[in-house]
Amino acid sequence: MEALSINSINAGYENRDIELSGWIDSIRDHGGVMFADLRNRSGKIQLVFDSSGKDSGCGGDAAALRAEFVVRVRGSVARRPEDSVNKKIPTGEVELKVSSFEILNGALPLPFYPGEKVGDEAALKYRFLDLRSPDMMRNLEAVDRLMRITREYFSQLGFWDVPTPMLTKSTPEGARDYLVPSRTKPGSFFALPQSPQLFKQLLMASGVERYYQITRCFRDEDLRSDRQPEFTQIDMEMSFAASSDIMETVWNLVEKIFTAFEHKLPPAVLMKYEEAMASYGSDKPDMSLDTGLLADITEIFRKSEFKVFSSSVEKGNKIAAFLCRGDFSRKELDDAVEDAKKLGAGGLVWIKKGGEELKCPVAKLFSDDEKNALKEKFPGDGVIFAGSTGDSFALMGELRKILALRRGLKKEGFFPVWVVEAPLFEKNSEGRLQAVHHPFTAPIGDIFSDEAASLKSHSYDLVINGEEIGGGSIRIHKAREQIRVFELMGISGNEYREKFGFLLDALSYGCPPHGGFAFGMERLAVKLLGLDSIKDVIAFPKTQNAFCPLTHAPDVVSKRQLRELGLKTADE
Ligand code: ASP
Repeated sequence: MEALSINSINAGYENRDIELSGWIDSIRDHGGVMFADLRNRSGKIQLVFDSSGKDSGCGGDAAALRAEFVVRVRGSVARRPEDSVNKKIPTGEVELKVSSFEILNGALPLPFYPGEKVGDEAALKYRFLDLRSPDMMRNLEAVDRLMRITREYFSQLGFWDVPTPMLTKSTPEGARDYLVPSRTKPGSFFALPQSPQLFKQLLMASGVERYYQITRCFRDEDLRSDRQPEFTQIDMEMSFAASSDIMETVWNLVEKIFTAFEHKLPPAVLMKYEEAMASYGSDKPDMSLDTGLLADITEIFRKSEFKVFSSSVEKGNKIAAFLCRGDFSRKELDDAVEDAKKLGAGGLVWIKKGGEELKCPVAKLFSDDEKNALKEKFPGDGVIFAGSTGDSFALMGELRKILALRRGLKKEGFFPVWVVEAPLFEKNSEGRLQAVHHPFTAPIGDIFSDEAASLKSHSYDLVINGEEIGGGSIRIHKAREQIRVFELMGISGNEYREKFGFLLDALSYGCPPHGGFAFGMERLAVKLLGLDSIKDVIAFPKTQNAFCPLTHAPDVVSKRQLRELGLKTADE
């Protein structure tokens, strides 16, 4: 039986007898007449009880009702008097004159009421109350819709939903693993998957050709507002496909989803990783910021009298700069200098540019050539901010973002960009090569050449307004090439055989070329709904310390359980 959606009840229902079930949202006793709101996930409607007396003539004692009691009510829909129409709710024109009701369950006085703002601990401890609020219900419905559209989309294109193991071996997404001790092989551990990466590649080797899955992934990382220890990935993989095929498949889904959520999505910009780093100082360019791009002014100041710049350049640093339009007060400039320091930039030089004039405390140290070159590089008026220490492009990119947001230089809407061709490797702090994406990403060019360390990769990340919504790549599908990548990364033969032997086997026995992509489902949902935190789209999230106040997980277990697993805790 389909339940009647409360929010669909309008004046067209006048005099109709209906039955509804839900929670008492609020009660207003006007002596003789009692009003209450009935709420369930489909909306809210005003109930009217003719008499609040003991026997109200509607099958029970309406005065006994309290907020969050669970009830079933019957009655007829009536138009509200003109002066009591509530324009704020969809059912505001009508009310339900209750003829009978049943209390299905009572409720103790609540620690807080649905929709009330309370701290994280309390909200998560009583998450079932928090979830009852219309906002949270809307979020859960949105996640369901998002997953439904995704399933339908992939299924229509012939992708198969193939579940992959949760109890598995450590995978190399780079985060810490969650481990599960084995009872049957004491001293050994499963790892919960950080992503289904290797299994989806094995499915390609198996001939599945088109795979997708909406699945949980686990990463034991320090948490931020856009991270949770477990999250949902919309994961896909395709055989015999080029980057462009995968990007098109992904993009069509993204467009479908945004349209379903009534958002306009302009076509995605295609940007090489190198350009993103040079113009935005980041591989997640925020194209919604309406301010000048970064520029490299190293050459202008290489031989300058202004030693702050020239000696920094001599040490091998680059000078990154951008122009932020508009007037800056002295205080705003000082704040920007403070921001730069906090970001870790040793210092910040600002230069006011108005017409032909450049003004700043150190301008007298600039030669005419330097001044002219600056004017040419940054057309328009505003303030040029420049930094020359550390990773100056990353730091100035961050500062650019901070200043643009502070000054409200953000355009409305969504600005998608595909960031493609990231380097295959980067050097870690010990000078060893590590994969920028993951070690299974296919190189552009010859991995056996002398330039292997500086090759780019067949990678593509989808970034919307500065946030990575998902990423993927074409994979290496030949064992020799995969081994070469492991070797370049300094992974010994023993180690890669032990860790990835099964993958090398699969690549050795006729694996087709393939590639794929994965979205962070919650991050996408947060964007669609205009929310700040992924906690708002996860039914039962954890706190910042990866703790669940609702169930108290993680928790101690009995000695017997530990014994069975052959484990001892450190304090035993
Ligand atoms: N497995 C990758 C990740 O989780 C995504 C992909 O390359 O498909 O980041």
